[in-house]
Amino acid sequence: MIVVHWLAASPNRWKKFVANRVAEIQQTTTPGTWGHVARIENPADAISRGMSAALLIDFDIWWQGPAWLNQPKRFWPNIVRTSDCIFDADQLEEKPATSLPIVHEALSIFKLKSSLTDLVNIILKDRRSRQNGLLTTVELEMALQNLVRVSQQESFPNDIGSIKSSGQVKPTSKLKSLSPILVDGILRVRGRLHNAPIPYSQKQPMILDSKHPLTLLIVRHYHVKFLHAGPQLLMAAVRSKFWPTRLRNLARTITHRCLNCFRCFRSK
Ligand SMILES: [Zn+2]
Repeated sequence: MIVVHWLAASPNRWKKFVANRVAEIQQTTTPGTWGHVARIENPADAISRGMSAALLIDFDIWWQGPAWLNQPKRFWPNIVRTSDCIFDADQLEEKPATSLPIVHEALSIFKLKSSLTDLVNIILKDRRSRQNGLLTTVELEMALQNLVRVSQQESFPNDIGSIKSSGQVKPTSKLKSLSPILVDGILRVRGRLHNAPIPYSQKQPMILDSKHPLTLLIVRHYHVKFLHAGPQLLMAAVRSKFWPTRLRNLARTITHRCLNCFRCFRSK
């Protein structure tokens, strides 16, 4: 609902992150045509919450949209154009995540932290203390994306520069075969699977350098999350979201060097 209010006002009112997107939407569409779909009827909600294929087959909203969409417009829910004042100003303006400047100021935290969870927690600490202590999935995802963005700037500054200036990397780039693109400042593999029924993150995974400390933390995180997965499963799990260079070697190294795995195999 907040987004409907963003679209109804001048982009100048909002912080840059929101303002840029609102301006683009207002330029390419008519703001008055935007409506609101309650969360319970929103097909996209199934994606953000996650749903198994078995449940998705019978999830009518996903296949057909909300039931009222097939009805004449007069039966559609009314949008109550409530006064902005009922919303918290922080929510409406969506102040940029405080994590970004912190990450920029202290790149060395990549090396100081021994786990991905610690790293994400430390950059979100300020935000957590400011609010009610609860973090949303979106906040965690944004924190992670900020970390990836910074790690890419460290690992691939020339490739990012080339894409910004010419739309593609140089023929000699080691990323050339991935046909990388920049989306919101993040290097992603250009998806070959545009129409495949898989999440966006799998179609266009975020590119990482296997030598960067963040990549090590991410792959180690997935190794533990997937119950000390072996190299094959670990690679598949990581690639659901990321595309580290030379992942095979890294997955093997992390599995072989894991103390828990070592103890477990030795005791057999
Ligand atoms: Zn292990």
